[in-house]
Amino acid sequence: MKNADLQRRKDIATPRGVGVMCQFYADRASNAEIWDVENRRYIDFAAGIAVLNTGHRHPRLMHAIEQQLGKFTHTAYQVVPYESYVELAERINAITPGDHAKKTALFSTGAEAVENAIKIARAATGRSAIIAFSGGFHGRTMMGMALTGKVVPYKVGFGPFPGEVYRAPFPIPAHDVRTEDSLAALQTLFKSDVDPKRVAAIILEPVQGEGGFYAAPVEFMQALRKLCDQHGILLIADEVQTGFARTGKLFAMEHYDVIPDLMTMAKSLAGGMPLSAVCGRAEIMDAPAPGGLGGTYAGNPLAVASALAVLDVIKEENLTARAEQLGQQLKEKLHSLRKRVPHIADVRGLGAMVAVEFNKPGSAEADADFAKKVQTRALERGLLLLICGVYSNVIRFLFPLTISDDLMDEALTVLEAAMLEA
Ligand code: PMP
Repeated sequence: MKNADLQRRKDIATPRGVGVMCQFYADRASNAEIWDVENRRYIDFAAGIAVLNTGHRHPRLMHAIEQQLGKFTHTAYQVVPYESYVELAERINAITPGDHAKKTALFSTGAEAVENAIKIARAATGRSAIIAFSGGFHGRTMMGMALTGKVVPYKVGFGPFPGEVYRAPFPIPAHDVRTEDSLAALQTLFKSDVDPKRVAAIILEPVQGEGGFYAAPVEFMQALRKLCDQHGILLIADEVQTGFARTGKLFAMEHYDVIPDLMTMAKSLAGGMPLSAVCGRAEIMDAPAPGGLGGTYAGNPLAVASALAVLDVIKEENLTARAEQLGQQLKEKLHSLRKRVPHIADVRGLGAMVAVEFNKPGSAEADADFAKKVQTRALERGLLLLICGVYSNVIRFLFPLTISDDLMDEALTVLEAAMLEA
């Protein structure tokens, strides 16, 4: 009854705009499992939307947070600084792609990192225009919404959005948009809408997250780098969802042999504590004047302590290799189901950033109902799955990379049953 009671209180006390997927309420969690207030257990393949690559309550993170709790929980870094912020910046500068001089600023949310990356790009270039892509997701703030390439539910009723944001189609060959098409669209933008010399930055997710787990083709990313260099445009990689070992590399940009000028990161950076960052070329990062960047909570010490532990855990537990291995296992399972589940239109993924896309059998028409049914059946059997995609017909898998082999096997058995039953 507890869940039903809480659900009633929730409906009265909180707005429907904060859409909630589950009707059960969390009580406790450990690594890849979560228990509700009625003591029902779920295998967590959502991981707090890609936040828990190191699992729920990793002992190393808990220890680091407890240590920090005993010292101080907040000073406002801009008022009284602390070493851990500087150390985290040093470590992010060292592990991100490119061996040029870099600097890092910390914030709290992914959207805030995106906002600040745009501020920094504008300050550094003295230009105002930004180019983003269809299907991209960059957050729920005003600029985040302006950059986001999906109207329902993110933008409905919330405009007008900040100006000078232009959009090109993201290349998805499976949807008949090829790299050449996207590059041609950019040229058209430069001809018909905006002088490339007025463009401050092009921002994209190397693998679109909310948009459906579509990886940018390598030749596209490389062409974008060239285009940016040609016109003095900055390339911003939004790695909020792709970062910290999810794709089998520490950052997804490592799959492309392309160095972005600025990178945003959040989610699994601090393993469940709110923390985000913008890392970039030192001279670009230094463009805004003192006081132009920051925020009261930006770089919270408990979150920073957790992030330092996350970086240790990823290295010591070799989570990049583990992501590759788990992703492979999952893709094999999904491929093996193709004959029995004709709705499966595509199985894809870099490392453990894996997704399965559903169409109506024998057609190219997206089947959102089927994805929803799989999700519901899986949840009934205790497996938490997330849907994504512009047509809501994709199931994405975001299990903790620290998941045990036994639990992974159990989850795949549930997934198979849910797909066959849907
Ligand atoms: N960028 C990307 C690529 C994301 O996936 C998200 C969150 N899904 C955001 C930005 C926004 O992050 P937040 O919800 O922490 O503001």
